[in-house]
Amino acid sequence: MLRFLLAATLLLPISSLPAQLPPPPPPPAAAATTLLLLRPAAVFDGETLHPGWAVLVENDRIRAVGPAAQLNAPAGARTLELPGLTLLPGLIEGHSHLLLHPYNEAPWNDQVLLESEALRVARATAHARATLAAGFTTTRDLGSEGAGYADVGVKQAIDLGLIPGPRVLVATRALVATGSYGPKLSANVDVPQGAQEADGPEGVVRATREQIGKGADFIKVYADYRWGKDEPSRPTFSQEELNLIVQTANSAGRPVVAHASTPEGMRRATLAGVQTIEHGDGGTLEVFRLMKQRGVALCPTVAAGDATAQYKGWRKGQDPEPDRIQQKRLSIKAARQSGVQLAFGGDVGVFAHGDNVREAELLVREYGFTPLEVLRGFTSNNARIFQLPDRGRLQPGLLADLVAVQGDPTQNVAALRQVKLVLKGGVEVK
Ligand SMILES: [Zn+2]
Repeated sequence: MLRFLLAATLLLPISSLPAQLPPPPPPPAAAATTLLLLRPAAVFDGETLHPGWAVLVENDRIRAVGPAAQLNAPAGARTLELPGLTLLPGLIEGHSHLLLHPYNEAPWNDQVLLESEALRVARATAHARATLAAGFTTTRDLGSEGAGYADVGVKQAIDLGLIPGPRVLVATRALVATGSYGPKLSANVDVPQGAQEADGPEGVVRATREQIGKGADFIKVYADYRWGKDEPSRPTFSQEELNLIVQTANSAGRPVVAHASTPEGMRRATLAGVQTIEHGDGGTLEVFRLMKQRGVALCPTVAAGDATAQYKGWRKGQDPEPDRIQQKRLSIKAARQSGVQLAFGGDVGVFAHGDNVREAELLVREYGFTPLEVLRGFTSNNARIFQLPDRGRLQPGLLADLVAVQGDPTQNVAALRQVKLVLKGGVEVK
């Protein structure tokens, strides 16, 4: 059709063309350089705290970082005095579901089956805003949980500046083996599932490619799950299926992340070559050592288990710890002993978006991590593990995603709750 039109146009006599072509648009004005000098009490650069340092931002990038005395404001720079505050890289949430809201507000089944996609997207816009306001300038969003490719649209709306939110890496629908996921009603009714079912070499390859084609930044796969209500998790995909998913995604430049909590599910996902394993509640020293050996990181998501145990009636601080929490404690101990790399993320969505810091607080207060370990985790470590070399540290040339908090979060993790300023790409968003 296009060819026909072009041919027809060429056949027209010159005189029939418009007498005057519209004037060309004026050349764009040279983009003005915006310089911003931030002078906090201290700078945490993703690794170490530096009292008395300052950061110079040029447009959307960091131009210089160093002792305030050596960092003079260039002509035209605006200076922001931030007394008493610590400036750090924008935090990176390792495990979110922007399209879910807390399960004590509505059970997961009801969110997937009863809430319209429009309602879920509307909620997601509020969730994105709350995430950014909490100082999380990037989030790795691990599945739309029945909302199809809505996460791709939410990400697009943020990138277009239509709604405030963090930079989002999206998984889209996630992959599950047929019959292994939910919601499950009676055997006679087929209901929409919280992820895409795919099986066999052809099936998993096609589904992986489909998700990538529709915008997945990475592939999320459920390597194990509970096949029936009230039974323990068991492996879902075969080794061959997992291998093919990883090969297909990697050849398209996408990593794969696996939900897994059984030693066998974790082992298969590790051998297949996933980037991270999520949860890992039943992880043994042996499987964590295998992960370390293969360069697979663990994202333990302690806040999700803590929240769901309380939704199920555990009165924290009064009742004895449920088995699941005790198991989690043992697995984290084994993980630390093995030296496996740790990515940090809370599975936020199970609990309220904007309360992302809950994971950091629990890791320090209940799992023996130091505030410094957790801070490195949510900044430079997450960036390295998720292969985001343009963020997570404060260095010249990296994105000017910055957060200023009251006090010293390397001493007191609760300081992360006192977010006073958020810069995303050099723009003040809080
Ligand atoms: Zn999750």
